[in-house]
Amino acid sequence: MLVVALVAGAAWASTAEAAGDGCAAGAAGAGDPYFPGYGNGGYDVGRYDLDVAYNPANGNLRGRAKLRARATGTLCSLNLDLLGFAIKRIRVRNEKARWSRHGQELTVSPRRPLKRGKRFALTVRYGGVPVEFRDLVTGVPIGFTPTGDGAVATGQPESAATWFPVNDHPGDKAAYDFEIEVPDSYGVVANGKPKGTEPGQPGWTVWRWQADAPMASYLTVLGVGDWDARRWRTADGLPVYDAVDSTITGAHRTEIDSSLAKQGAILDFLATEIGRPYPFDTVGAIVDPERPILFALETQTRPIYAAIFWLDNSFQPANGDYVVAHELAHQWFGDDIALRRWRDIWLNEGFATYYEYLWVGAHGGLGPEQLFDALLAGLPADDPIWSVEVGDPGPEEMFSDAVYARGAMTLEALRREVGDRDFGAIVERWARDRAGGHGTTGQFIRIAEAESGARLDDLFETWLFTAEKPPTPATVRAGASGRGDAAAGRQAIEDLRRRLALGAY
Ligand SMILES: [Zn+2]
Repeated sequence: MLVVALVAGAAWASTAEAAGDGCAAGAAGAGDPYFPGYGNGGYDVGRYDLDVAYNPANGNLRGRAKLRARATGTLCSLNLDLLGFAIKRIRVRNEKARWSRHGQELTVSPRRPLKRGKRFALTVRYGGVPVEFRDLVTGVPIGFTPTGDGAVATGQPESAATWFPVNDHPGDKAAYDFEIEVPDSYGVVANGKPKGTEPGQPGWTVWRWQADAPMASYLTVLGVGDWDARRWRTADGLPVYDAVDSTITGAHRTEIDSSLAKQGAILDFLATEIGRPYPFDTVGAIVDPERPILFALETQTRPIYAAIFWLDNSFQPANGDYVVAHELAHQWFGDDIALRRWRDIWLNEGFATYYEYLWVGAHGGLGPEQLFDALLAGLPADDPIWSVEVGDPGPEEMFSDAVYARGAMTLEALRREVGDRDFGAIVERWARDRAGGHGTTGQFIRIAEAESGARLDDLFETWLFTAEKPPTPATVRAGASGRGDAAAGRQAIEDLRRRLALGAY
């Protein structure tokens, strides 16, 4: 949803430097051409233990992050991503390690090289006031952000490095244990399942959350505040943990509660359409007032929503439902199947938008078929939506209307080409084969061709990699669906753009 500019000093060369004793420096980036400084090379994190104390009164954060990782090369040093904070101590395999810093890059040099294939634990003690981090396009605060009643930490494509040392790229998924200590009057919500509270220092409480399913670092979420927390179960027995800011009341709150009560029904609908069960063992929502959070994000098991999504009553079929359907669809597409490279972002946003429209279309609004017809019939060839290669949009256009709309239309074009039955088989196999891991556009195309037996390179070339308006099918020109006229097209794109203007999601 949001694009962050490269942080100063982060874009180091990503090739490892050979050293004399057979070990090398781990790369300072994960090799992602869109964000060369994001993530690092040479190791793979299995689990983060985050032990963090945050004092909203003075904004101070004190942390101990323990990473359990495996070296993928023999390393004399490795890099982590961390913005701001003073480092107090770093230990690798229980020995003191040296470190240096350059912008976001924290370079750790263990006393002895880390052998390729070996597991190791690395602990960083750090502290200070988190730096302010903003989306350069919108100016919206992201990352660790103080709020009126605490703080939230969320943001895409990068946010985790604003509150803990991390291999900050979705290519390195890991499990997370959160132990967050705050003054007694605050509550804490994060990903996964709550593991109880215990007394901390006098007047403070430690809140534990545990997320065992592998998770990309930008999908971590932390909410410190005065939450109205609710635990319930869907009809299928899935535990739901919702946290709504307690200052949201009245009709606004009623609207939010109405959408959140549909989470079980939306998941059932999506699981049926996708052909795969919901991938995680908990779900729920975090809803914060519209400032400072001005967006929604598919944080794993627990999407975070700005309350602003429930302030406009004009969306069909019901206020705010579309954004819940979208973020829950991301749990399959973006979360369970994460990106290897940010350029494949349409695999997240195109899929989430397609299934969002499917839900909306099944409940009285515009579905993906109508969206497809309306945009092709209604938007002229010079509309900016057609000038983006959604399969490689560039970092500035990653969250543009085109990636959402044309991404969803790509799936609709595929469905029309191969038919309902093969389309269902393709999506089901995609969700099954890549479950718990990563996916690329090339892998998706291969599955689509294997399941349908069709040559689909022209279709994907036209829809994903051509910065021009695709040809309009004759049935759409004839207005066969009843939605393919110019007025309906303008209405459909206006609706989509109003959704995106309200807040990125
Ligand atoms: Zn999205």
